[in-house]
Amino acid sequence: MTNCLFCRIAKREIPASIVYEDERVLAFNDINPQAPTHVLVIPKRHVATLSDLTIEDDAMIGELARRAAAIAQERGIAASGFRTVFNTNRDAGQTVFHVHLHLLGGRHLDWPPG
Ligand code: 5GP
Ligand code: ZN
Repeated sequence: MTNCLFCRIAKREIPASIVYEDERVLAFNDINPQAPTHVLVIPKRHVATLSDLTIEDDAMIGELARRAAAIAQERGIAASGFRTVFNTNRDAGQTVFHVHLHLLGGRHLDWPPG
């Protein structure tokens, strides 16, 4: 989608601090980090929200989850712990309507979230 911020980051039209890339997945540092590690893992293909997934996206969601875990491992926060979050729509605070998995870690994270 031409007007989607994360599609534009995936196409390298807007700069980002990229930490991983392959044919289907991109991971980059969040511009407003909420923890020492705050990475966004996205599919390159545009899907607006988790509610828009189809069975064809099952493998892609698995790739996002495995990539987040791999980045946590690389950052040395896998054993201490990390959080992965998909925010969906208004009450969850979704602001960018291109599916993204937040990877947060490097500090204690309270539960439940606010
Ligand atoms: P949401 O609130 O939709 O779950 O998460 C969107 C995230 O994207 C936020 O954590 C926000 O800080 C991040 N973000 C918004 N605009 C940009 C940007 O231009 N670059 C990067 N790297 N992150 C962004
Ligand atoms: Zn998009």
